[in-house]
Amino acid sequence: MNTVLQLADVEVSFGGIHALRGVSLTVEKGEQLCVIGPSGSGKSTLLGLMNGRLLAHTGSVHVFGQDVAALTARKLRRVRSELAWVPQNLGLVPNLRVLQNVLCGRAGRVGFFGLLRRMALTSMNEAEEVRALLERLGIPEKLYERTDTLSGGQQQRVAIARALYQEPAAILADEPVASVDPGRARSLLQLLTTLAKEEGITLMMSLHHVELAREFFPRLVGLQAGKVIFDQPASETSEEELRELYAVGEE
Ligand code: ADP
Ligand code: MG
Repeated sequence: MNTVLQLADVEVSFGGIHALRGVSLTVEKGEQLCVIGPSGSGKSTLLGLMNGRLLAHTGSVHVFGQDVAALTARKLRRVRSELAWVPQNLGLVPNLRVLQNVLCGRAGRVGFFGLLRRMALTSMNEAEEVRALLERLGIPEKLYERTDTLSGGQQQRVAIARALYQEPAAILADEPVASVDPGRARSLLQLLTTLAKEEGITLMMSLHHVELAREFFPRLVGLQAGKVIFDQPASETSEEELRELYAVGEE
């Protein structure tokens, strides 16, 4: 089964605000795609639907072929354990060590008490596994550092290490580079897209920077006021389409 995510004619509204209107989207295994659009266009809502944090009001959301709205809590947990979520604020626990934050990547598999036990009795194997991951991300020396002593760019790498440690089928990342300078954003995207490719992990991200989206993602989905304006190869996306996408202005 190769379809990872499938939205069919989805509507989401918050009070009177239509966050998504008639959105249909299919993501196949191993794809890398980027959702772009002005702020308030529905990017976070779209990603939130994909991992079942939000439910569609009409239409359907299927993840790994399963209707998210019909899943029991237990099955939803299993589906989520296959989806790594990298939120905009990274979701790291500041006063934990880097090692412990990365171990949280498998919390969905081992449960809350399993996680506590792991933190208390981290085996050499686990620590070694995490160290190897940090090595690939260029920060192996940070293994036992307190996470809040790291720079913003290093913390982003920790969030990515945590996502990879989860061994997910897909990574969903909501503007993960919003708060760093373009040079650092570029190296992080380079790393994430390369690692995802090597591991065969599907990658779906939202980005505010169109240029970065174009540079690193083969497929672009343009959202405007909750509607998909285009969904096409980045190579076929013109300057004019991008200008029009943002022409409505920011909120
Ligand atoms: P983006 O991520 O592209 O900035 P969002 O998905 O966050 O857009 O938001 C889409 C629209 O839905 C916006 O108008 C936003 O104000 C509204 N919205 C999103 N989440 C909520 C919420 N929890 N409650 C009320 N309105 C929301
Ligand atoms: Mg957002």
